[in-house]
Amino acid sequence: MCRHTAWLGRPRTLADLVVDPPYGLLRQSWQPRRQRQGRVNADGFGVGWYSGEGPEPARYRRAGPIWQDRSFLSLAGHVRSGCVLAAVRSATAGTPAGEEACAPFQLGREVLLSHNGAVPLAAVAPLVSAGDLARLGSTVDSAFVAALVESRLGEGLPAALAGAVAAVAEVAPQARLNLLATDGRTVSATAWGDTLCWRVGDAGAVVASEPSDDEPGWVQVPDRSLLTLTGDGCSVSPLAIPEPEGSA
Ligand code: GLN
Repeated sequence: MCRHTAWLGRPRTLADLVVDPPYGLLRQSWQPRRQRQGRVNADGFGVGWYSGEGPEPARYRRAGPIWQDRSFLSLAGHVRSGCVLAAVRSATAGTPAGEEACAPFQLGREVLLSHNGAVPLAAVAPLVSAGDLARLGSTVDSAFVAALVESRLGEGLPAALAGAVAAVAEVAPQARLNLLATDGRTVSATAWGDTLCWRVGDAGAVVASEPSDDEPGWVQVPDRSLLTLTGDGCSVSPLAIPEPEGSA
């Protein structure tokens, strides 16, 4: 599993979210504390953020470990945003390498998406058109999931995540589907097979695969849940578990 995190609130630097916390994403890239699959997240990373210059986010993705990217570590202290989504990658066996396979994926103009987990390609490939996949630029399993979310964006971000998880779980009950997405105003996430937590403070709220420090306030999200974060607060609701194929 990879690790991911998002921030929604007052503008803060990328370093403040990703680099500086004692157990933040930078540390999680080589020493995650709650990761259930894989030991290090050295197969690339990505950060997306909304600058206020139009609806489209900026994206910075690289194929190597975040700790080796001195240019990112240098700029991270100088870029501020009120909505950030970042991920570090531990590639699932058999998936392609390269920055195109790293989250965040961009869906349409505005939406960023990250996937922690693994999905059997044979099961999801028939659900996705070649054109949808080509737009996302990779054949990593997460890109298939991203295409399924993208095709549902008209329903709103939380419903799009819930719908994509249900569609994959129906054909691949063993899939792990922790998703994290934002359109710059709302952050939505699923817990489906791995850890997820959140913390609200005076300046905003953070959602993360695992706590980035040992301070109080972190709330663990139960597995099979949908989390939605807006300027008004955070809500968590259970996700429906699809009936196995063939059952009445
Ligand atoms: N399956 C995705 C990939 O290969 C996510 C991997 C993960 O969560 N470790 O990039």
